[in-house]
Amino acid sequence: MARTAHRFSRLAKSSRSCLSQFMERGVRSTLCPKSLDSRLNRWRCVVCGAENHSTELNREGMLCRFCGSTWRARAMVLGVLETLGYVGVPLSLVSADHSLCGIGVSDDRVVAKALYDKFHYVNTFLHQYPTLDIRNVTDEFRGTARFVTCSDVLEHISPPAERALIGLRSLISSDGAIVISVPHVPSGETQEFYPGLVEYDIRGSVLRWKDTDGMEHCDESPEFHGGSGLTLAFRLWSLEGLTASLYSAGFRKVSFVSLNSELGVPPLGPGDAVVVAHG
Ligand SMILES: [Zn+2]
Repeated sequence: MARTAHRFSRLAKSSRSCLSQFMERGVRSTLCPKSLDSRLNRWRCVVCGAENHSTELNREGMLCRFCGSTWRARAMVLGVLETLGYVGVPLSLVSADHSLCGIGVSDDRVVAKALYDKFHYVNTFLHQYPTLDIRNVTDEFRGTARFVTCSDVLEHISPPAERALIGLRSLISSDGAIVISVPHVPSGETQEFYPGLVEYDIRGSVLRWKDTDGMEHCDESPEFHGGSGLTLAFRLWSLEGLTASLYSAGFRKVSFVSLNSELGVPPLGPGDAVVVAHG
């Protein structure tokens, strides 16, 4: 176990230098203690604490003018804070505690930088160091994390998705939790775009795939998110389906982050749920 902790520590230290490359601008800002008027869409960024004003409440338009965080990035940070017992305060006001271990699954740079400043956190990637494949978790990561952030990843995991959920469960300590955001519909069943897929090939924008019975299929309009290839979407989760799958993967409890308009994470309607899966 000591060796595992040491290896995790090495990963976190190594990623410090990597993360510094991503610091395009400081996230510190001056804080104003006055209360914010949500009727004017004024909010304090839960990541950096900066005051902001938005003319519209939506995912794309609500960028923090200081740290650049998106609604989704702030929702993830809000989820981590809630998981650790910090309620109603921006991360920037939380005292650093590097005894708390966290793992990011391809977090964006703003989230990674903010969490790294406060906790013993390492951001991981599927195809670059520090490498973590949540479908095949290696011993160095098992049971190490008090929190894991997994944002818009689970729709891109090739079937069966359950393998990734079991992998996520293996990352956390007994009091740990996974904060998950994923495109979803509120109810119904999760829609698998390629049920029984065992192999696939992408050429151009065409996906050819084979199922467990050896049947060959072709999808001429696959769904890609923000690029091509590895950002192929394999499913549209339903919140009900994700919750059920998380319980099946061994999570003890599934809850939802309490969205907070004053901290820049207002409710936006169907599909805005951020899930917390507890170990
Ligand atoms: Zn900010």
